[in-house]
Amino acid sequence: MTQVSTNNKSIVRMPALFIGHGNPMLAITSNPYREAWQALGASLPQPKAILCISAHWQTVGTQVCVSKHPNTLHDFGGFPSELFEQQYAAPGTPEFAQLTQSLFPAGKISANADWGLDHGAWCILQSLFPKADVPVFQLSLDLNLDFSAHFKLARQLAQLRNRDVMVIGSGNIVHNLAQLNMQGKTADWARDFDQYVKSALENSDDEALMHIERAGPCARIAAPSDEHYLPLLYITAIRHSEDQLHFMTESFDLGTLSMRSVLYS
Ligand code: ZN
Repeated sequence: MTQVSTNNKSIVRMPALFIGHGNPMLAITSNPYREAWQALGASLPQPKAILCISAHWQTVGTQVCVSKHPNTLHDFGGFPSELFEQQYAAPGTPEFAQLTQSLFPAGKISANADWGLDHGAWCILQSLFPKADVPVFQLSLDLNLDFSAHFKLARQLAQLRNRDVMVIGSGNIVHNLAQLNMQGKTADWARDFDQYVKSALENSDDEALMHIERAGPCARIAAPSDEHYLPLLYITAIRHSEDQLHFMTESFDLGTLSMRSVLYS
């Protein structure tokens, strides 16, 4: 959390973070990623609200969840019952959802009262904020936007950081389910793309982040679809020039899911 003085007023800027969420079982098993999320959560300031931008909510047009009591969504299949029994009972926050809408021209962001918390959100929030006492709301990913349009939209969210809102992106920089490796062996294309993105982040190179094809053939294999990469773009779009960049959990789950997480604070 950064505190700066402007015109004798003190502005507190909440950190912004991107978490590589990996497979859902990480939320309930003993593993180093979950331990890292718990340790990170213990070090974070307490925000008034959390805005989560998850790979797992894609819509036509951008939507914001205005539910007062968002349901825990078990939006996956083929996992043990224990995972389906998980509940993350954080309240919603129609007030902050409406504040988010107000940052855009009327009608740009539509309200959705039905969406709850998808597993991209609750699987990490369980570890980051285990008490579930901070209100959470989600913003969807518009299927119709290209990377530069997502980036432009995301920049408007930066001011939420000055309003005690912690913005958390949840996805994976490298995400290829078709080539999962149960022995955990990581292919060169996965490491190459992860390193390309790491370097772009270190250089604050937004063009490189928006034009991932510049990474070469590894980009198509590492990010065969957009949704797990996009939440990172939202977080980089709201970084501040005074932020320090930190990386966490720089390894791979099941060989093809980059767990690299990013903190701007
Ligand atoms: Zn996912």
